[in-house]
Amino acid sequence: MNDALLLELAELLGADRVLTDKATRAQRAVDTWPLRLVQRTVGAELPGPRCVVRPHSADEAAAALRVLHARGVPVVPYGGGSGVVGGAQPPADAVALDLGALDQILHIDEENLTVTAQAGVMLGKLEVWLGKKGYTTGHYPQSIDLAQVGGLVATRSAGQFSTKYGNIEDMLVGLAALLPDGTPVRLGPVPRWAAGPDLRGLWLGSEGAFGVITEVTLKIVPKPAARRLQAFALPNMRDGLMVIQGMLREGWRPAVVRLHDASEAERSYPGVTNEGEALLLLLSEGPNTYVIAESEAIAAIASAGGARPLGPGPVEKWLEHRNDVHLFDQLISMGIIVDTIEVAAGWDRIGEIYDRVTAQIRAEVPELLVISGHSSHSYPQGTNLYFIWAAQPPQDPAEMERVYWSVWNRVMETTLALGGSIVHHHGIGRLRAPWMARQLGTSFPLLAALKQTLDPRGLMNPGALVTDTGGREEA
Ligand SMILES: Cc1cc2nc3c(=O)[nH]c(=O)nc-3n(C[C@H](O)[C@H](O)[C@H](O)COP(=O)(O)OP(=O)(O)OC[C@H]3O[C@@H](n4cnc5c(N)ncnc54)[C@H](O)[C@@H]3O)c2cc1C
Repeated sequence: MNDALLLELAELLGADRVLTDKATRAQRAVDTWPLRLVQRTVGAELPGPRCVVRPHSADEAAAALRVLHARGVPVVPYGGGSGVVGGAQPPADAVALDLGALDQILHIDEENLTVTAQAGVMLGKLEVWLGKKGYTTGHYPQSIDLAQVGGLVATRSAGQFSTKYGNIEDMLVGLAALLPDGTPVRLGPVPRWAAGPDLRGLWLGSEGAFGVITEVTLKIVPKPAARRLQAFALPNMRDGLMVIQGMLREGWRPAVVRLHDASEAERSYPGVTNEGEALLLLLSEGPNTYVIAESEAIAAIASAGGARPLGPGPVEKWLEHRNDVHLFDQLISMGIIVDTIEVAAGWDRIGEIYDRVTAQIRAEVPELLVISGHSSHSYPQGTNLYFIWAAQPPQDPAEMERVYWSVWNRVMETTLALGGSIVHHHGIGRLRAPWMARQLGTSFPLLAALKQTLDPRGLMNPGALVTDTGGREEA
């Protein structure tokens, strides 16, 4: 270790906190961005960070930031590395601040129903710990065992049971963070915020561009007493979307509401639906009397909307396999691009986004193997679409990139043209940053001004979240 920066960090924190070996740097060279992973299978080199700093406390993280800030060195906070949009992929001269050793669950408050944990605690570990005490956060992203609580806040994550429990922004009641120069800040925990603007919002979705989250306090709920599962077949996606809209409009909030298109229904639940039919999965949970009332009411709404009951079987199957993504890894290792794109829009236009995106990509991307979609996070005002697609590009990094953007450009442009949100929960990262100015429109300068105020030297995660371009040229 002969670099002056590395020597200073090692002296301050201890040499075991400053990792420079090739394997660790290669591991922190990318998150789970499918484009970079598939390019790596054909030999693309990804520049790793200059070094990986692994603090064991918020004080150590602050000390590291002070040094990096004084020396003008870019920093990329690295959580679980499960982000899929390149948010934690460090530029060549950056230092990765690995939060994995901030892994202590600090406090459960059973009276006020909160739990406080260091940012690097894996959500899966927190849920097991809470479960033994009879509680849950209600937050179950598919990456529950891959993501840290700090990372989930930093990306505005959504869980599979979001229709009842809300997304991470509905659960966050307090946090501690470090500004780019290491200055600590703390907020809450309070049940509601009215002391001016809600400053928690600065950190929700901040993606490491404003500073580093070191601790979070989340709401918890007693584990639900009862649960009921129901599945239905619907003639098509549009009819299914109308059924979901009807349920939410009446005030019902089933924890899980998933509508899979015919392609996904046939692929993941063979023999369950007829050709062309969409598959609706519903899960109600809570106090027994509530669950009975909700499941009967939503079944009636589904029947009135033309749904055919299929019993609980498909939902049981989904529960069993919902976090299994081994096929994704397998396909990537074979040089096949497999990726997901989630967007959101109001009920009046979500069906059109689904129809246009799937038709356009099938017609215009010759390398496409498959594109399918589902809705999995619904609100009275609208819902999300989660596209899953795969393509077989020529085995060359530049060609992979071309095919990749040919799909992404079409989804982003169609969503923008129809007034939707280009992201529902995977974040902006480096992937979506070029579309941010157009997504936010007149509010983009406000975001840019916040970035400039909090991080005037542009040292926090440069290239992610806030850039000033207007989309990708070859759209
Ligand atoms: C198989 C799979 C399934 C997934 N399913 C879901 C899902 O159901 N719902 C969902 O919302 N997401 C899902 N994701 C995406 C991913 O898990 C989330 O984006 C997650 O929130 C990332 O957390 P992380 O700790 O892994 O963060 P990282 O990937 O390490 O980082 C993500 C971003 O946050 C920043 N960051 C991380 N920690 C901090 C911190 N403490 N302070 C400041 N900035 C920080 C990083 O710089 C980066 O910009 C999935 C990903 C995979 C691979």
